[in-house]
Amino acid sequence: MKAIYLDYNATSPLRPEVRRTLTAFLDGEAWGNPSSLHALGRRARATVEEVRAGILKTLGDPKGDLLFTSGGTEADNFAVSGVVRALQGRGNHLVISSVEHSAVLQAAQALQEEGFRVTQVPVDSEGRVDPREVKEAITPRTLLVSVMHANNEVGTIQPIREIAQAARERQVLFHTDAVQSFGKVPLDVREVEADLVSLSAHKIGGPKGAGALYVRQGVRIRPLLRGGPHERNLRAGTEGVLGIIGLGAAARSALVGQRDGEPERIRGLRDRLEEGLLRQVPGAVRNGHATQRVPNTLNVSFPGCDGETLLMALDLAGVCVSTGSACSSGSTEPSHVLVAMGLPEERIRGSIRFSLGWDTAEEEIDEALERVPRVVKRVRLPRPPSADSQ
Ligand code: PLP
Repeated sequence: MKAIYLDYNATSPLRPEVRRTLTAFLDGEAWGNPSSLHALGRRARATVEEVRAGILKTLGDPKGDLLFTSGGTEADNFAVSGVVRALQGRGNHLVISSVEHSAVLQAAQALQEEGFRVTQVPVDSEGRVDPREVKEAITPRTLLVSVMHANNEVGTIQPIREIAQAARERQVLFHTDAVQSFGKVPLDVREVEADLVSLSAHKIGGPKGAGALYVRQGVRIRPLLRGGPHERNLRAGTEGVLGIIGLGAAARSALVGQRDGEPERIRGLRDRLEEGLLRQVPGAVRNGHATQRVPNTLNVSFPGCDGETLLMALDLAGVCVSTGSACSSGSTEPSHVLVAMGLPEERIRGSIRFSLGWDTAEEEIDEALERVPRVVKRVRLPRPPSADSQ
């Protein structure tokens, strides 16, 4: 039985173009240390700078800065704690949303333990932040607003342009975690007026352990890692050239995909999956926004099911999915995103995330629509007998 992989928000298989680029690099003559002054080093440096310029152009700000990191988690930590520490004397407060990834939530929590104040802005039942609430949360002591672009669990897209505007009006910096939106929906940092943006390679067909933080020109940030002059003295450590090249290749492929209708193709498959599941499984409901949602993500609650049990049964049936975010699976805590959306406990318990990507095929969705309803029927907990049936 062929496995159907519907867990792209956890990670994605390498795109063939990325594999080819990485192989060519490994077989080539650019393996030097980008900091070395000799020809091999200069070649590696040129490769790194080419990727930097390419991604900045894709983001719409060739004059901005892009600091390569070990992934989205480091980029988020860097943004949150780096900005707050750089501006420390001017205030002591930050504003985040209640549905942020744990990389932002826990970075904020760590600052809170040191005495900073953190306000978590709530979301509505579809997972959207109201920009007016962000505006109201900002005080003269606020240093940073951080609200993600697209949520990893339900896919809801936040009105980041309006949120950034609210921050700008009060002269507060705005960071967005674009790990789940980059390459899936257009993002122009100038149009949004974002000051900092987190990216990751492995959600869009690139390698794991590679990411970047976009920083608008003039924004002050303090390094997390020290030990050398790399990345303009802001992120010490020999550059992970292989990962950087993989990030660049994945970003290029995703961009080509966007021009060639890849997101529309994925959206079509996702909608077919959604429509089929809601039709075939009695009581199944979608979690997240109907339209303001990244095209690859579908979160469904199967009432009467336990998400973990269902996930394991689906795995045995050859369907790879997730309950909540992969980073928090293994813990039995209910999803903080679904809790923040105010969903009833039963709906949270029976929720499953399906996420599609560049290699998802139509036949896989057809097959998933055969397998999932069958498995749900099997693992559904028997309903307690109602009073009138006794
Ligand atoms: N931010 C979001 C929204 C994510 O979904 C993830 C990964 O699941 C991360 C950050 C962390 O990215 P990485 O796995 O590259 O550290």
